[in-house]
Amino acid sequence: MKSSTIQKEKLMSFELLKTLCATPGVPGREEQFREVVRAEIASSAESITTDAMGNLFALRKGKSTTPRTIMIAGHMDEISFVVKHITKEGFVYFHPLGGFDPRTLIAQRVKVYGSRTIDGVIAIKAAHFTTPEERAKVIPLNDLFIDLGLSGDEAKELVSIGDCITMERELIKMGNFYTGKTLDDRVGVYVMLEVFRAFTESQDNIYAVATVQEEIGLRGAKTASFSLQPDIGIALDITIAADTPGIDEKDHCVKMGGGVGIKILDSSSICHPGLVRFFRELAERKGIKYQMEVLPAGGTDAGGIQLSRGGTPVCTLSIPCRYTHSVVESVHKDDVQATIDLLRAFIEHSHEFQF
Ligand SMILES: [Zn+2]
Repeated sequence: MKSSTIQKEKLMSFELLKTLCATPGVPGREEQFREVVRAEIASSAESITTDAMGNLFALRKGKSTTPRTIMIAGHMDEISFVVKHITKEGFVYFHPLGGFDPRTLIAQRVKVYGSRTIDGVIAIKAAHFTTPEERAKVIPLNDLFIDLGLSGDEAKELVSIGDCITMERELIKMGNFYTGKTLDDRVGVYVMLEVFRAFTESQDNIYAVATVQEEIGLRGAKTASFSLQPDIGIALDITIAADTPGIDEKDHCVKMGGGVGIKILDSSSICHPGLVRFFRELAERKGIKYQMEVLPAGGTDAGGIQLSRGGTPVCTLSIPCRYTHSVVESVHKDDVQATIDLLRAFIEHSHEFQF
């Protein structure tokens, strides 16, 4: 009886992550995704607000008479595209929003959000008609196009310049991993939702902030942090697990199954050394598996939060992820759980942290 209950709960959690991964959230057009977050968080929050950028703020008040403000951030946007040109034959050229690697795009399915949602494929020239030189070359993003299976007139009736496009790939379980598109940062939002709903109480005011436009320069986090003026900012995001063949161990950054990443620095932020130490000691105390992370390239919302007003102490909790910014992004289920456990412990013990 008990084990079947646990199984059911896990399935429900996986279904939530799957829903988050499948819901589109193009930078600047996060409204559909935001409504999923709102629905999931509504029953736990004492207030929910949004700002002009589209950031969503959910509050659970602290028990202290002098609570601090803690901002937890997970970004709602995904790397994606907008339509920039439609040819008279009906082929669609697109502009990228976020850091795509063109090698990962060929022969992939996409969804185009025109006057209705349309399936498409990123086209590939038949191998039979390519030269050895062409096969060895990466096609620049600017030359890639989408085939909708429609005539020029049909395509132009349904699709307009500026319409959003997302990659298409269902989230599945694979061994110990979850794999699919947009785990960056759906898994961070998932952790935020699970913890916000589950923690017992905090002395500090906890704001779960689902941010916009992270992938194009941490834009939502900047305005959210400016208006909220948090005392502490914690970003939740994936980081690069480069523990795969062909990469030297010193460059692995973090390892799959090695636990939650406690970030020391990346190219957008240097985490507050006191917070880093606090997280590390908390993980030790609670027996939560963790690893220290130095990420040479890449950033998180912590970079935006940190630079608001006179500056904010920040740290990022990272979920190790292989094959980032592709449709086969993969995370280890134990690392996701470790991130949930450490964030929850932090919220419940945040008052013990002194600057
Ligand atoms: Zn991210």
